[in-house]
Amino acid sequence: MTISQLSRKNIQALTPYQSARRLGGKGDVWLNANEYATSPDLNLQNRTFNRYPEAQPQKLIEHYAAYAGVKAENVLVSRGGDEGIELLIRAFCEPEQDTILYCPPTYGMYAVSAETCGIQSKTVPLTADFQLNLAEIEKNLEGVKVVFVCSPNNPTGNLLKRADLVALLEMTRDRAIVVVDEAYIEFCPQATMANELANYPHLAIIRTLSKAFALAGLRCGFTLANPELINVLQKVIAPYPIPVPVSDLACQALDSNGLAAMHNRAEEVLQYRTWLINELQPLPIVEQIFSSEANYILVKFQNGTNVFNTLWDQGIILRDQNKALGLSNCIRITIGSEQENRRVIEAVRAISAK
Ligand SMILES: *Cc1c(COP(=O)(O)O)cnc(C)c1O
Repeated sequence: MTISQLSRKNIQALTPYQSARRLGGKGDVWLNANEYATSPDLNLQNRTFNRYPEAQPQKLIEHYAAYAGVKAENVLVSRGGDEGIELLIRAFCEPEQDTILYCPPTYGMYAVSAETCGIQSKTVPLTADFQLNLAEIEKNLEGVKVVFVCSPNNPTGNLLKRADLVALLEMTRDRAIVVVDEAYIEFCPQATMANELANYPHLAIIRTLSKAFALAGLRCGFTLANPELINVLQKVIAPYPIPVPVSDLACQALDSNGLAAMHNRAEEVLQYRTWLINELQPLPIVEQIFSSEANYILVKFQNGTNVFNTLWDQGIILRDQNKALGLSNCIRITIGSEQENRRVIEAVRAISAK
């Protein structure tokens, strides 16, 4: 038997997450991972490297709780939001028995994490306007332990209606966990569901420092939930998941200066987003620009593959969504620096002029 054949059957069958980095490309304009264009300038302050870190660094937990408007007991910190997603699946789904449910087109990690854990997925596609199909979700809840929804949704950019999220929470009470992925909530903070935690013991919210905090390289994310749910996740997380330098730098990102910088960044991104939309709108090869509440826009072109490949060859790396459910000819474009956004417009304009 080869080593591959020795691996679990579901791992043999698994297509790993096509992360922006894994897809490669030789670009100088990276607009495919919803990162921020430049790095915050942070320096290590805690230089105690010989000791294991605190399992859940208290100062970091308190900083994030204060920022999110919840109590420290409502916060779990993990290796990126992605680890939070996996912990929820591992803690709540019985392998070969329970399932997760998610609503494509959406973030790819729900499916990949479930598959890695030997958990089946059920999918209930979003409606034509990228909202939840509540009637279909309700019909499909049998055996479902965790429902993943994403708002603002990646890659479409829109918010899910608050009334629908509340209806989903009502219909799943005492049956399943509802995970609301708020990776992009800093770009539309009023939409958070964090203020619903008091009403719903089965609500979990995924957060991250990778997007508006400009710290994707840090690998730091959070799960917000009620203490009973947080305690379940504490049982399955690794003993020392957060390296000392990570909590040190994350605390700085969440102090008053760090938060002010984040708010400025988010505001700047929204201005650039408006500029990019206004420049793209009149171009004849642009069929539709979907409205976005996040730091990226989804654009439908006449020939998406041609646009994607042409820009790729010029070192402008975007995220092709052509294969995502219902998104043929669509490309997701991260809002970059002013100069990066100009490069995109010039390149798309050149194709339009041909
Ligand atoms: C980026 C992202 C995450 C989390 O990313 P991490 O870098 O692991 O914190 C989670 N959900 C969505 C929808 C994302 O786009």
